[in-house]
Amino acid sequence: TLSDVNSVDIVAIGAGQAGLASAYYLQREGADFVVLDRQMAPGGAWQQVWRSVRLVSPPLYTRLPGLAWDLPFHHPPSGPEVSGYFADYEKHYALPIQRPVRVRSVSGDGRLLVRTDSGDWSARTVINATGTWDHPFVPSVPGMASFLGRQLHTASYDTPEEFAGQHVVVVGGGNSAAQILAEVSTAARTTWVTRRPPDLRGGPATEKDLVAVTDQVDERVRAGLPLRSVVSYTGIGRTDAVVAAEARGVMVAHPLFDRITPTGIAWNSGETLAADAILWCTGFRPALSHLAPLHLRGPAGGIVVDDTRVAADPRIFLVGYGPSASLISSHRAARHAVTYALSTA
Ligand code: FAD
Repeated sequence: TLSDVNSVDIVAIGAGQAGLASAYYLQREGADFVVLDRQMAPGGAWQQVWRSVRLVSPPLYTRLPGLAWDLPFHHPPSGPEVSGYFADYEKHYALPIQRPVRVRSVSGDGRLLVRTDSGDWSARTVINATGTWDHPFVPSVPGMASFLGRQLHTASYDTPEEFAGQHVVVVGGGNSAAQILAEVSTAARTTWVTRRPPDLRGGPATEKDLVAVTDQVDERVRAGLPLRSVVSYTGIGRTDAVVAAEARGVMVAHPLFDRITPTGIAWNSGETLAADAILWCTGFRPALSHLAPLHLRGPAGGIVVDDTRVAADPRIFLVGYGPSASLISSHRAARHAVTYALSTA
């Protein structure tokens, strides 16, 4: 019933980097808001990344607004270190974050109705900061369901030891695939398959590379074009582990297979390969299914976004989407979204 609906001016969805930065600016401006996050604990996507992954950009540049992040400049933070900093941050600013609360849908004319798995909210605007980690992408390949071995996505990968002595097929041509292949190949026999020949570049991606990508992605989302993978802009960064794996001869890619059989993979050429596990390092898509009732997608297939403002619905702001889908750029996007959200009141 209507009386069960909590009313607030702004609902922010998601408490990763983008949601926390938004919450900081909302609080600073004295806004009437709440943050809804489906996780059990602070950290956003970073509480779920695999064991060896490290943040490329230095803490000094990737920290949230306000609170200092006391790590040495050249220390690349791990998942637990990022999550720990986020936890300190939430506490330090006493941010109004409710969890675990999963938003199921956002709909309505006039005021927005935000439906969740634990209570509903009415809001004038929504700042959406749901990231991509909750929407892993796996291509559909004939025979997938028949495979008797283990299939998993990057999102649930943790360490190479789980695959000791096995034959693992690693699928994907991005940075996650290359980094995971490099380490899994130290414990298991591996076969790498990619849709296109992998684009291995010079060094690991730097902060400067990420900034350059931002401008190109911004152009695409202003035009409402569907997003492309980060690797299509940057290529695969050669980390030390990737270079070592190249020297061991494991970074050799085969074309994507055509079918999956109960025991492995098969190409239309007739070639087959037995496998114990298929590791889908095939990326993520923006986690936006809860916004479907608002029909935000335009004719070009993507959502038209002008500096966090959704062209199709002035009540919705996307932070951590497209050009701001990185730690270094979500900060500024959050500040802009909050300014716009409060100035339309
Ligand atoms: P997230 O951290 O994913 O937070 C979103 C939050 O919203 C999560 O808690 C999620 O559970 C929650 N949520 C989702 N859907 C709902 C819902 N319906 N209801 C309620 N809550 C919901 N960027 C850099 O700048 N430098 C790097 O070195 C770098 N390395 C990376 C390495 C990896 C492996 C990955 C995956 C990303 C990396 N990035 C890097 C990109 C950057 O980490 C992400 O863009 C950023 O962390 C995403 O922050 P976010 O707040 O947008 O999303």
